Amino acid sequence: MSRAILLGGIADDFTGATDLANNLVRAGMRVVQTIGVPDAARAADADAVVVALKSRTIPANEAVAQSLAALDWLRAQGARQIYFKYCSTFDSTPAGNIGPVTEALMQALGCDFTIATPAFPDNGRTVFKGYLFVGDVLLNESGMRQHPLTPMTDANLVRVLQAQTRRRVGLIDHRSVAAGADAARARMAALRAEGVGIAIVDAVSNEDLWRLGPALADLPLVTAGSGVAIALPANFGLAPTSQAAALPAASGWQAVVSGSCSQATNAQVAHFIARGHAALALDPLRIAVGEDVAGQALDWARGRLADGAPVLVYSTAEPAAVQTIQDRLGVAQAGALVEQTVAAIARGLVGQGVRQLVVAGGETSGACVQALGIAQLRIGAQIDPGVPWCHALSPAAPQGLHLTLKSGNFGGEDFFTRAFEVLSA
Ligand code: ADP
Repeated sequence: MSRAILLGGIADDFTGATDLANNLVRAGMRVVQTIGVPDAARAADADAVVVALKSRTIPANEAVAQSLAALDWLRAQGARQIYFKYCSTFDSTPAGNIGPVTEALMQALGCDFTIATPAFPDNGRTVFKGYLFVGDVLLNESGMRQHPLTPMTDANLVRVLQAQTRRRVGLIDHRSVAAGADAARARMAALRAEGVGIAIVDAVSNEDLWRLGPALADLPLVTAGSGVAIALPANFGLAPTSQAAALPAASGWQAVVSGSCSQATNAQVAHFIARGHAALALDPLRIAVGEDVAGQALDWARGRLADGAPVLVYSTAEPAAVQTIQDRLGVAQAGALVEQTVAAIARGLVGQGVRQLVVAGGETSGACVQALGIAQLRIGAQIDPGVPWCHALSPAAPQGLHLTLKSGNFGGEDFFTRAFEVLSA
């Protein structure tokens, strides 16, 4: 039986969970991320466990049910504080799910006050006077205005959250945060006395988050993007240490699979090829007519892996090419076909002895983790902001494998080669 955990995270999507876990590791916690709510007791020892849900855009009542199940499991592990993690652009609609999930967690924990802040200054997300900025512009002037599922047309988070909850929403403004933890505590007490249940918190720098941290020590529930996580481990007496990111030694062949078509990933693929590494492009139309594209890719990889250098298999394409495929196959059909093929290739590569695997693409990562039968990941050192190496057990690799799951626009241009250098460093 492992010892009790300190902090329990509930994240509303998979890459968001990794982002939270990554910040906790950098602040000194040993962290395990689970895929969904585990059905058994945890096997690994950790200071924090982050349960990754897929609850950002599902109906609010389902998001509440999943979050409460995660809460029950985390409390059974001994979690002393719960951290509900959502997107740093506060992705939600008047129907939820940030408000309803927060309210349900508060009720289950019997707490009458919590905070809410998506501030993550390192990633350009800052909150001032309750207004969320994305880089230099207000949330509603950013690309989030046109988001297909959660269009954000108001940057005032007090208003946005108030529309989603029966609890009263207030503001801990920058003056209180800048004046230090005692001032923040005093402001919390005043808001509480006024009947406020959830307070949006201003923060424009990491210093603001560090000043705020001690004031959050006694809250049973914190709700935030991943930014606040940099300041919480200190409340448990933990300080940054490389030990927190320690993973087993890396072994085996190296491979990259990419189903992401984002701008950054296109540049990373081009960079990898320009460095002279072996790379194979997948043609979605050949998948669609039933060719065994995965089998062909695995045959191609078999001879090359033994050279000891990383290989890349990718469906990554420029927007015009993706559009052509989507026009021919339909958006959902194209996405699903490519995801399944890339995941089958990832599984096959691990079967061939790959033990260091880079996966590019958020949805693609979900499909690969599922194909590999991975239930939990231990979080290691970050390669680029928000993207750490992880170690996981899989039926395809009973001794475990290292993998990193890179969503969309994350990572520098040399990510596909540097990732392996970071791991062997
Ligand atoms: P990102 O994190 O960059 O958004 P995702 O993996 O989440 O990447 O999403 C990319 C989607 O595009 C996936 O559903 C994937 O299967 C699909 N896809 C990948 N390559 C192609 C392609 N060449 N044509 C059409 N769709 C593609």
